[in-house]
Amino acid sequence: MNGLPGWLTDQQESADIEPLLTNADGFPLELLASESSAMTLRRFGRTISLYAPLYLSNYCSSGCAYCGYASDRTTVRRRLETEEVKRELDSMKAMGIDDVLLLTGERKPQAGFDYLRHCVDIAAARMTRVSVEAFPMSVSEYAALADAGCTGITIYQETYNPEQYRDLHRWGPKQDFLDRLETPERALQAGIKNIGIGALLGLSEPVEDALRLLRHVRHLAKTYWKAGLSVSFPRLRPETGGFEPPYIVSDQFLARMIFAFRIAMPDVELVLSTRESPVFRDGMAGLAITRMSIASKTTVGGYSHHGSSRKGQFDVHDDRGVRAFCSVLKEKNIEPVFKNWEPVYNGPNTGHVEPAGQS
Ligand code: SF4
Repeated sequence: MNGLPGWLTDQQESADIEPLLTNADGFPLELLASESSAMTLRRFGRTISLYAPLYLSNYCSSGCAYCGYASDRTTVRRRLETEEVKRELDSMKAMGIDDVLLLTGERKPQAGFDYLRHCVDIAAARMTRVSVEAFPMSVSEYAALADAGCTGITIYQETYNPEQYRDLHRWGPKQDFLDRLETPERALQAGIKNIGIGALLGLSEPVEDALRLLRHVRHLAKTYWKAGLSVSFPRLRPETGGFEPPYIVSDQFLARMIFAFRIAMPDVELVLSTRESPVFRDGMAGLAITRMSIASKTTVGGYSHHGSSRKGQFDVHDDRGVRAFCSVLKEKNIEPVFKNWEPVYNGPNTGHVEPAGQS
């Protein structure tokens, strides 16, 4: 594909972790784990911050081949109305959750920007930290979300291989690879404080995706040095359409990749969701990962059980409740953190993050 930014294709930008990922120089996994664990302890202490996703709607105009909410799936479509959003958030709050990730599909009249901003308003009145994982937006839309209380945007590139990306995104606005790639920067320019990026592992050749993902986070760290950055490591899970992953990502490779990212980016938050098994999550907690989802529901209305959609976006693998998962963390001498900051200013958003050299 023409027009790829230089930072994405510059192999020097990821040359340090390539041998760690490919094990070319015989780096034992145990050695990486030990190095990664020491760095994590130094930078983050023995803590894991916890959040939960809230699916606001399963309407979507895109045709991602790997997703249970793609517009050709027969899933019954619905969105949460105002009282339902409040009820879901109250149910989550009763579980101890204080950090929510709001999700929707690509824009539809039923679930567009105004609906999303309204839901951010409701969530910000109840939760300390409100992030959004939805469709790419303009700078002015992100600024409006920041004003409503949104502090973080999660946007995965899914795969950094443009040809594979084209084949997997069969229709809809998500077909625009470069627009998606530029989205985190628009959010940062609008004053959103935290950006989460990632690749959906299994869609494309995993080493190539890992290297490009590292170049992406390094580009953001260099250009927007005030931003809070996180990297997630979602692996493909079964979904209603029965999509078969083109590449199998083993536990060994995923662990190697997570350790390599910690070693390469000591200050970046590394995130692991309930897509992964309890055994894998328990093993990775404290070694590199510093943020995890907990007690997740991927259905619309899954927390209060009032008219929940029957099928989720994907099947979660770790379905333990808050108490069970926190007990495991405590047994490992890790403190579960539900809230680590208090907003003290709720006026207009003036915290725009300029690219390096302009602030
Ligand atoms: S991944 Fe997102 S944009 Fe793609 S079909 Fe699913 S909900 Fe829609």
